[in-house]
Amino acid sequence: MLSIILPSYNEEKMIPIAAKRLGDILSPENIDYELVFVDDGSRDSTWAQIQEVSKNDSHVVGVHFSRNFGKEAAMFAGLSAVKGGCAVVMDCDLQHPPQTIVEMYRLWEQGYEIVEGIKNTRGDESGLHKLFARSFYKIISGLTGFDMQNASDFKLLDKKVLDVLLQMPERKTFFRAMSFWVGFKSCQVTYDVAERR
Ligand code: UDP
Ligand code: MG
Repeated sequence: MLSIILPSYNEEKMIPIAAKRLGDILSPENIDYELVFVDDGSRDSTWAQIQEVSKNDSHVVGVHFSRNFGKEAAMFAGLSAVKGGCAVVMDCDLQHPPQTIVEMYRLWEQGYEIVEGIKNTRGDESGLHKLFARSFYKIISGLTGFDMQNASDFKLLDKKVLDVLLQMPERKTFFRAMSFWVGFKSCQVTYDVAERR
């Protein structure tokens, strides 16, 4: 089974849209899946929406935070709740194209344990944002020795990689870098960042 983790902060409108979109793409591909929505202490009705959608769609499960802890915490809580043999983390606003998950899953079936999503384009970010992002990843890549230019949180991990990540003692996590660090048989797919729905 493929588990998809969707950290969700004030995404009340996106919960039903994301659940439907992912079902429309994964069902015809005969991929058994679950959607783990993590409500990161939203101020809107995100949690009520997750509960509502899960009533009619057995693929949907939810995790509920007592307050907003941030996306890193939401991703790790979701990863610790998965039932599948592999998991994909993606943004709830569909900026990570759902169709790419099928490509990632097929690579996992071929034996890859980590499939990194690498941004082709950075979407509609401002020039200054792009400049800071480029500088940040240049420094991170220099320090870690891994090429992290255009790396993202959009990635697939085999269950055994998850187990290793969840055992790491880090309290301040940096998910997108940690998957580079742990080793394992990995490959990359590129994607275009969509506009926020
Ligand atoms: N998110 C979250 N907790 C937060 C902020 C964001 O879980 O405190 C989620 C958000 O709902 C979305 C993803 O993380 O699914 C990325 O957030 P956003 O779209 O705001 O950021 P960006 O597109 O700039 O990376
Ligand atoms: Mg976004």
